[in-house]
Parts: sequence; C-alpha cells; structure tokens
Amino acid sequence: MKEIVIISGKGGTGKTVVTASFAFLAKDKVMADCDVDAADLHLLLEPKIKEEGKFHSGATAVIDKDKCIACGRCLEVCRFSAVSLDFTIDPVACEGCAFCRNICPVSAIEMKENLSGQWFISDTRFGPFVHAKLGIAEENSGKLVALVKKKAKELAKAKKASFVIVDGSPGIGCPVIASLSGADCALVVTEPTLSGLADAKRVINVAKHFKIPVKLIINKFDLNLKISKKIENYCKEDNIDILGKLPFDKSVIEAITVQKTLPEAASDNIKKIAESIWSKLSSQL
Ligand code: SF4
Ligand code: SF4
Repeated sequence: MKEIVIISGKGGTGKTVVTASFAFLAKDKVMADCDVDAADLHLLLEPKIKEEGKFHSGATAVIDKDKCIACGRCLEVCRFSAVSLDFTIDPVACEGCAFCRNICPVSAIEMKENLSGQWFISDTRFGPFVHAKLGIAEENSGKLVALVKKKAKELAKAKKASFVIVDGSPGIGCPVIASLSGADCALVVTEPTLSGLADAKRVINVAKHFKIPVKLIINKFDLNLKISKKIENYCKEDNIDILGKLPFDKSVIEAITVQKTLPEAASDNIKKIAESIWSKLSSQL
C-alpha cells in the first residue's frame, strides 16, 4: 500500500481539485481529508457517513462548588488568570495545566476532556473516505490529522487497497507534518505566482526534511509563463519531478460548480492531463 499526500504550502492552488481527480482515477484506494481546519474535499466527493466518533484533545479545569472551601489557592497559582474571584474557571483562558487541581486541598477541581472535533468514515461514489471536522476555535489539529491518517491506513489495510490518497493540510506547521508522516510521496500543487513558489519551496523543504520524495504539479501554468519557468528551473536544480502542468481552463470552474471532479466534467484537454499525471504518479511509486 502506498500513501500519497497532496500539499501546497498555501491555500487556493487547486490542491483539493487535484486530489478529487485522483479519487476518480485511482481504482483501488482509500481517500482521506487531512485539511481538517478547512475541510472541503467532501464537497466534491459527497460522502454518506457510515461511522463517526468524537475527538477529544486537552482538558479544562472545572471547580465543584459544593466541595470548594474558597481557600483561594487556585486563584493564586493560575498563571493564565483563568480563575475568577468567585472561583469559577474561564474555559477559554484555562490552558489545562492541572496545577490548580494538584494543589486544591479538598480535591474540588476536576480536569474535563475537551471535545475538539469529530471524525467520519464515509462511502462515496469513488469508494471509502475518511474525514473530520475540527470544532470552531479548537486547536491540536495535528492530532486530529494523525487520527484521520491512522483510520485511513487501517481501512486501506483491511480492504487491501493499493493507495491511500490524502488531501494534506496547508502551511508548514504541525498539521502538515502530521499529514506527511510516513507518506511515500508528497505531491506539491503550486501556481505560477511569487507567493505560490515561495510557499511551495517552504513545504518542499518540510517534506525533504522528513525524507519524503517530492513531486510537483503547476496549476494554471499559462497564467504566468515567466514564473512557471522559474518553478521549472527550481525543480530541475532540486531534482524534483514535474508530473504535469494544468492550463487555466474555464471547464475546471464549471466542473467544481456542479460538484464534479476534473475527469468527470472538465474539458477533454484537462481530463487527458489529469489522467497522464495519475498514470505517471501511480507507476512511479
Ligand atoms: S483551591 Fe480548591 S478549595 Fe481552594 S478555592 Fe480553589 S477550588 Fe476552592
Ligand atoms: S488548569 Fe492550569 S490554566 Fe487551567 S485553571 Fe488550573 S491552573 Fe489555571
């Protein structure tokens, strides 16, 4: 089983549209969406949820008013000013360090796990799909990403699937590192802008740091041929294989508008390029 993670370093490069194309083109796979902060692969895959679970991360202190003797020690020790004068705890300010619980003389403080999100295993018209939803303003998306990947791999193993195809997290922080962990290939989707190139370089460095082979696609390459050339030169110098270049094509927007993948609804030219990219990628792993 091979794991491919599609990343971009920044949002809006077409990463999810490319990932959804592979959902159509790869016949024997499990799909996963690790962009849990702003998940949108489900919009194109239209999942029907079969199994779901809660994701807990961190804890918040809660005072039992019936036990509390108002000694004030928790108020004194809390470095985050989370305890108010009436001995209630602000759950937003509480960092969950549990110091107050440990010093409370009457064990009036309990640490309650935070419900931070949900995970789902769904059926789609392209096969199984593991995805998640992080709660509003919740942190620790790296842990939720790791959970989504774990469930996708378990499912792929059980189904004897050849591929796990992951829509990776954006940026270069903890979630993208969790997305890339253990992958066989990081496929970077970039666009011909200076920020696209800068962000692609940063995420490529993250993948290389973890010794994950990197390949690249330039999306809408014809919108700026000069920067596309710069990207190509950079890839040549760094030995990064460019699997394909997608031109700007209105049919891509039209396909997304009707919630279809590129091989389902884009122009013949775009379909041909998407097929060629998948054929190269799957044969090189
Ligand atoms: S340390 Fe315990 S007993 Fe003292 S004020 Fe805080 S909760 Fe109440
Ligand atoms: S758990 Fe830590 S941060 Fe939260 S109220 Fe207690 S001392 Fe403050």
